[in-house]
Amino acid sequence: MSEQVETSSPRIWVFIEQEDGQPHPVSWELLGAAQRLANDLPGSVVEGVLLGHNVAGVAPQAFQYGAKRVYLIDDPILEFYRTMPYGMGISKLITKYKPEIFLFGATTLGRDLAGMIATHMRTGLTADCTELAIDPKQKILAATRPTFGGNLMATILCRQHRPQMATVRPRVLPMPDPIPDATGEIIREALDMNESDIPLRRLRLIPSEAKVNIEYADVIVAGGRGLGGPHGFKLLGELADALGGVVGASRPAVDAGWMDYEHQVGQTGKTVRPKLYIAAGISGAVQHTVGMSGTDFILAINSDPRAPIFQMANASIVGDLYEVIPELIKQVKGMRN
Ligand code: FAD
Repeated sequence: MSEQVETSSPRIWVFIEQEDGQPHPVSWELLGAAQRLANDLPGSVVEGVLLGHNVAGVAPQAFQYGAKRVYLIDDPILEFYRTMPYGMGISKLITKYKPEIFLFGATTLGRDLAGMIATHMRTGLTADCTELAIDPKQKILAATRPTFGGNLMATILCRQHRPQMATVRPRVLPMPDPIPDATGEIIREALDMNESDIPLRRLRLIPSEAKVNIEYADVIVAGGRGLGGPHGFKLLGELADALGGVVGASRPAVDAGWMDYEHQVGQTGKTVRPKLYIAAGISGAVQHTVGMSGTDFILAINSDPRAPIFQMANASIVGDLYEVIPELIKQVKGMRN
């Protein structure tokens, strides 16, 4: 079943994450980053790794986002994600094709899988990177991530072991433009496992009750401690609805129980990249702004004219959010009528 592929080019691999045949967009963001790395690593080739059952239909999209080849393990055992068969399948591919660099989305699945593979392959993994580059002298991956509570950035090299592995959270990297007529090669490999080899069974699936996915929202109206209580989020929700957006929150607002964690933006929450981010009653601490600095347009509303958020805002309103937000809602609704 497996095929021969020339092995001289340094390979930059991206894990193409999918669920029920639906690819996770972070895979395409990573392919864009892989292409930028390839530009600085002469002769290298960008390739995807896809596992699942009846998922070959995902490969053409990977080609459109820059993969020259996709290594595919398609097996009923891989119909839903389990760490062991996915990890063993990929470890087998790594042993055979020896990629230099391997990138994963820092999703729940990607974090679990990358950690298992790095341990199994005895190599280094830099988690939650915010920047990926090729070190100009050593020609190896320079993976940058926040450290010491977000106050410092560390660039980590993996000199001795391969592959050099990194995870990146969704929306940290820009989405590349697809090339509609790009094509590539699918290399099929066998899993060679039996169900009896796997200690974990899925008895039933309880769908997540997650109501909102703020990572890919175009408009986010976010509130912080300045709201003074959960009632403020009702107001923000009204503005978000009027703008066709969703509500975001700073960590203190989540810690206080005013909003669910899935709405939290920042270092320990989600990274977002909307077209419009309205920050109301948020001071602009680096642990918050690291999660929304990729926004196209930031409107900050704060009663303190010295609030750091104003330094990065495209438009600023100094004032009490409880006066400003109702006025904005009125204006937006007025524009629609
Ligand atoms: P504050 O800093 O208290 O700011 C409240 C703002 O509201 C003030 O600027 C005030 O002037 C303004 N305000 C008050 N009343 C009004 C009003 N009526 N109208 C208008 N403005 C008003 N934070 C995150 O957000 N996300 C994270 O993921 C995150 N991760 C962290 C990870 C670590 C390891 C650490 C150490 C911290 C983390 N933090 C995170 C916390 C972060 O450092 C800040 O404490 C937090 O972002 C501050 O939240 P805030 O802006 O809502 O509150």
